[in-house]
Amino acid sequence: MHWPKNLNKAIKTEINLAGYTNFRIGGRAKYFFEPKNLKELQQALVSAKRADLRVFILGAGSNILVSDTGLTGLVIRLSHKDFRKCRCQGSCLVAGGGLKLNALISFSREKNLSGLEFLAGIPGTLGGSLMGNAGAWGKAIGELVSRVGVLDYNGKLKLLGSKQLKFAYRKSNLNNYIIIWAKLKLLAGKKKVMAAKIKEYLLRRKQTQGDHLPNAGCIFKNPTCGSAGRLIDSCGLKGKAKGGTVISKLHANFILNTGKAKSGDVLSLMDLMQRKVRERFKINLEPEIKIWK
Ligand SMILES: Cc1cc2nc3c(=O)[nH]c(=O)nc-3n(C[C@H](O)[C@H](O)[C@H](O)COP(=O)(O)OP(=O)(O)OC[C@H]3O[C@@H](n4cnc5c(N)ncnc54)[C@H](O)[C@@H]3O)c2cc1C
Repeated sequence: MHWPKNLNKAIKTEINLAGYTNFRIGGRAKYFFEPKNLKELQQALVSAKRADLRVFILGAGSNILVSDTGLTGLVIRLSHKDFRKCRCQGSCLVAGGGLKLNALISFSREKNLSGLEFLAGIPGTLGGSLMGNAGAWGKAIGELVSRVGVLDYNGKLKLLGSKQLKFAYRKSNLNNYIIIWAKLKLLAGKKKVMAAKIKEYLLRRKQTQGDHLPNAGCIFKNPTCGSAGRLIDSCGLKGKAKGGTVISKLHANFILNTGKAKSGDVLSLMDLMQRKVRERFKINLEPEIKIWK
């Protein structure tokens, strides 16, 4: 593979991805790159395109399952400070796609800007959260977005306004883009009130999800008729184990890595959950996590 000279050293090979995921599962990436700026990112995309190399954009790795056999493509992580900036623009925030949600929430609280509190405790980046329209407690991040700056996989910069953006339950129309930054509409708020809300959301999360072993959050999306967790629980699957994985006893839509989980263990538990729910309720559970193979 020929990379531009200036990127040759920075693009690493055979990097173990398990440590970059919340699940702590996964094999190696053939190529792994953390660009320092937009230009480097564009250069890498152009080279990958030319070589027909598949590109994976990694956020905080909190919603993915990486195959143990690894990935033959290029994994790009927007971890550099250029992709984690945040600034106010009136009552809006403009933030980088690589910024973690907890940092975004802290920044908005410091600036007395309210609206993001419901996202407290979701361990993702802004980019990953926009991609899957992350949400909780009846709200989702897409409701706050007015503009997104993206790159397409040819490295071409585009600006998407609210009319071009589409968000629905755990999905967006951003699949063919790399999210570089987004503008979020917030409201004036009071630090103390916001801090209390955040505390309450974190507590509710702890009560319903527990302190866990490594996991990737909810495995399946909720079907229109209700909660995927409740359906799985009704099939008596809480505590069911496979290899190094177990279905959480607290939240049946969580699979936990008990130590030496393999991606195949997760997939077979997922298969069991889907099969039992289909047999009993005639409902097809759709994965919320993204499976990288
Ligand atoms: C304990 C726990 C609790 C959770 N609770 C919730 C919850 O309440 N609500 C909820 O919605 N989710 C929840 N999640 C899931 C997850 O945290 C969110 O989906 C989060 O938004 C994913 O962001 P990420 O940066 O980790 O994305 P990743 O897992 O790294 O990637 C997810 C997808 O987004 C893509 N992506 C990432 N960054 C970019 C980018 N900059 N541009 C383009 N594509 C990108 C990836 O390619 C991949 O397809 C939870 C997860 C855990 C582990």
